[in-house]
Amino acid sequence: MPELGTTQNETRCDVLVVGGGPAGATIAALLAARGHDVVLVEKDRHPRFHIGESLLPMNLPLLDRLGVGEEVAKIGMVKYGAEFVSPYHRKTVTFNFGNAWNKNFPYAYQVRRSEFDLVLLDNARRRGARVIEECKVTGVEFDPDGGSRARATHADGRVASFAARFIVDASGRDTLLANRFQIKERNSKHNSAALYGHFRGAERLPGEAEGNISIFWFDHGWFWFIPLADGTTSVGAVCWPYYFKRRQADATSFFLETIALCPEAAHRLRDAELTGPATATGNYSYRARHCSGPGYLMLGDAFAFIDPVFSTGVFLAMNSAFLGAEAVETCLKEPHHAARALRRFEAQVRDGIDTFSWYIYRVTTPALRELFMGPRNVLRVEEALLSLLAGDIYGRRSIRRRLVIFKCIYYLNSLRHVKTSMSAWRNRRRAISEATVEAS
Ligand SMILES: Cc1cc2nc3c(=O)[nH]c(=O)nc-3n(C[C@H](O)[C@H](O)[C@H](O)COP(=O)(O)OP(=O)(O)OC[C@H]3O[C@@H](n4cnc5c(N)ncnc54)[C@H](O)[C@@H]3O)c2cc1C
Repeated sequence: MPELGTTQNETRCDVLVVGGGPAGATIAALLAARGHDVVLVEKDRHPRFHIGESLLPMNLPLLDRLGVGEEVAKIGMVKYGAEFVSPYHRKTVTFNFGNAWNKNFPYAYQVRRSEFDLVLLDNARRRGARVIEECKVTGVEFDPDGGSRARATHADGRVASFAARFIVDASGRDTLLANRFQIKERNSKHNSAALYGHFRGAERLPGEAEGNISIFWFDHGWFWFIPLADGTTSVGAVCWPYYFKRRQADATSFFLETIALCPEAAHRLRDAELTGPATATGNYSYRARHCSGPGYLMLGDAFAFIDPVFSTGVFLAMNSAFLGAEAVETCLKEPHHAARALRRFEAQVRDGIDTFSWYIYRVTTPALRELFMGPRNVLRVEEALLSLLAGDIYGRRSIRRRLVIFKCIYYLNSLRHVKTSMSAWRNRRRAISEATVEAS
């Protein structure tokens, strides 16, 4: 087992965290606060741009537990709910988090990720983690007697090496360990890609609803509208891959053409201008075959990413970091319980992803859209659905039971509209099996 400290060629630590996004910064802060020697290596320098700006209400207790709730409140735009706009039903429905089962978390924030991620990374530093930026981990080897060694390269070309008792992969979509073990799999049940940009001068909702996220459905997918505190609005189109294959123009022109296909979104942007070029992100739904093993675990996007429709990414990443911190603590302090702790971590992480996935896979089906556009609080099912949208999926059995009832209603609804449901599933399967779309 490596001793702690730094030799001339090698930095030694208890825990090496790869990646300083929400997952990495969270687990680094938690483990350093418990007295472990933590080194976090980040390939970029914060503040840096990242997409994924809409948080969930259940992020807030996590931020408070990290001690950064007030700091995030200063940079965030308050989001009381989510508005779904459907041209197929010619109506708009707003889900207010204040009506969820648990009324204690009535809002969340929209944040610029450059600012948010910096708050989390600074917090990790304050709590004692050694943070090394502009240093990219390029390879990891596992020692037969436990522990691991990682190679990295600094921005100026210097090579670094690390020896750790435990390694946490929080490298996001770079999926360092999943690639290393060749266990990353494209999601066979879901497939989409995105185009996004930031606008100045977009029309916002009035009053308290100004910070709400809006989701606009249209024929090729859906749009997000995320109002940020500095007056700009993040807008993105998430579409089936077949649609992106049509693209002939550059990303910005294609983005503007796509917006024109959704009159409700176009209307809100009629007086707005893009603040920079649009960005395209290729197919992004994947999962690794497992997220833990002897001496390592994977957090957040380093393990799996489904789809941003319910803004679950940052919450799942941070939550996996809280679960992961417990597992790592056990592995370091009670190695004889390590296997059990990692199994528990793995089960909890998978459960969160699977719970959201069921809704995400069906959100474009007519049966689910109908339920979203005509919510009814029969047996408190709507409150449970709101809790799901708020990220409140861990814990209460009563919410889980109502979500089972919701699923039964969904299946009955599908049977009532069996023809349209079947054709929607066929279209969906065809869209998913389309060839991979690459980002540019
Ligand atoms: C189009 C789109 C829209 C989204 N919208 C939302 C949303 O509205 N709300 C939401 O909650 N989520 C959203 N997400 C998801 C969200 O962006 C991610 O789930 C979230 O950022 C995951 O956090 P993470 O810490 O796991 O990874 P990341 O935030 O990606 O952090 C990983 C970090 O690791 C660093 N890194 C990578 N490789 C290395 C290496 N080899 N060495 C050192 N450092 C490395 C990277 O520089 C990065 O800083 C969206 C995603 C997409 C694609």
